[in-house]
Amino acid sequence: MLRERLYRAEAIVLRRMNLGEADRLLTLYTPEWGKIRVLAKGVRKPTSRKAGHLELFTHSRLLIAKGRSLDIVTQAETITSFLPLRKDLTRTSYAYYVAELVDRFLEEGEESPALFRLLLETLGHLSEAQDPRLVVRHFELHLLGQVGYRPELYRCLGCGREIEGEAVFSPSQGGVLCPPCGGKREGSPLSADLLRYLRLLQRREYTLCQTLQPSPEVHSGLERTTRHYISYILERRLRSLDFIDTLRREEEKPLAKEKGV
Ligand SMILES: [Zn+2]
Repeated sequence: MLRERLYRAEAIVLRRMNLGEADRLLTLYTPEWGKIRVLAKGVRKPTSRKAGHLELFTHSRLLIAKGRSLDIVTQAETITSFLPLRKDLTRTSYAYYVAELVDRFLEEGEESPALFRLLLETLGHLSEAQDPRLVVRHFELHLLGQVGYRPELYRCLGCGREIEGEAVFSPSQGGVLCPPCGGKREGSPLSADLLRYLRLLQRREYTLCQTLQPSPEVHSGLERTTRHYISYILERRLRSLDFIDTLRREEEKPLAKEKGV
């Protein structure tokens, strides 16, 4: 009887919300049950022994009790804390974004061990990478592939011709159009270089992408393209993007002053 009411779960904390005086409602991503929402009782009390193991973005091993409305975390033990994701504000903003994407693209209970692995690897790379933006672009393209929105980057979605060189990215079509087909529809232009990077990031494992050094133009083009496509699919802008953009503007301020802009 008791055994049936308890289950073990490996989980990553995607979101948390204060509840009542000392509790928290957590949104977790688990390999076996997908996204779940659980109650963590008393974790805001200074004496809580679970609190440290249930921080945002932490990878933990949990023991959960089935509740009438919400399941309740009864034990928690950290596997990886991903400390830099809470200490470095830039990394924090990207981790928020990655977690928000998983939260938004997946319904509760939609399990995907592959996505769990991708998320776990991404948080690890985000903790260490020189260029966290590249980690995020790689994650976006692989997440899109796993949730059924893999963008077509090779053949024109208008005429079927294989594309070499420039193209147009059409969010509504879900991929690239050749310039003649793209001219008639809505989309954003992709330089040959930009398209090449998108293909590399989509096709390769991150470890094979980490040495890439896109130019600032390509970097902002990559970001523009994936953001445009993702906001089209989700039909809204993500909250974490405001955090990333505000932070970036703050970081650029002293630079602009130095340059006398
Ligand atoms: Zn075409």
